Amino acid sequence: MTSAKVMLLGDIGVGKSSLARRFVFDRFESEYKTTIGVDVLTHDVDLGAEADNATLRFVLWDTDGDFGLRIFETVYLAGASAAIIVADVTRPATLVKMASLATGFEEKFPGRPVAAIVNKIDLAPQFAADASLSQFDAVYTSAKTGQGVAEMFLSLGHAIWRRAR
Ligand code: GDP
Repeated sequence: MTSAKVMLLGDIGVGKSSLARRFVFDRFESEYKTTIGVDVLTHDVDLGAEADNATLRFVLWDTDGDFGLRIFETVYLAGASAAIIVADVTRPATLVKMASLATGFEEKFPGRPVAAIVNKIDLAPQFAADASLSQFDAVYTSAKTGQGVAEMFLSLGHAIWRRAR
């Protein structure tokens, strides 16, 4: 089975841990408190007929958001296959941070898949239609309702699988 280390990056509170738990356990707990540092969660996904029914093991590295761009100076990124970079639709500064993290990841790991995620879309559903965001080519998700989450992971899984072949 192909296994892929996938980094979850983005400011504190944007919903990285909630997205990981929605994906792995199909649950949302608003009172959940993250541990300090890094959590690692593993989840196997059947990629379907278009990927020869391969199974991909996601090894999700959920970093504490305090690193900022200094995350690229740490050992945590060693061997990363892809990154999921998350912003919070209710906090514009996190969108700016998402763009700089995406650039940083692409510079360090040219060609490796990056998914830009605008999370908490349940709090601002009209935002998905906002053309000013189109520059990010972002995917809209809600860890709370589950909107877009499985699709985002599946599509990233396909991109990882195509590169690993
Ligand atoms: P992290 O620091 O990036 O890992 O963020 P968390 O996953 O800990 O989430 C931060 C806060 O935002 C928590 O109170 C979550 O319950 C809440 N949250 C996360 N995702 C969503 C979402 O999609 N919608 C809403 N309404 N709240 C969310």
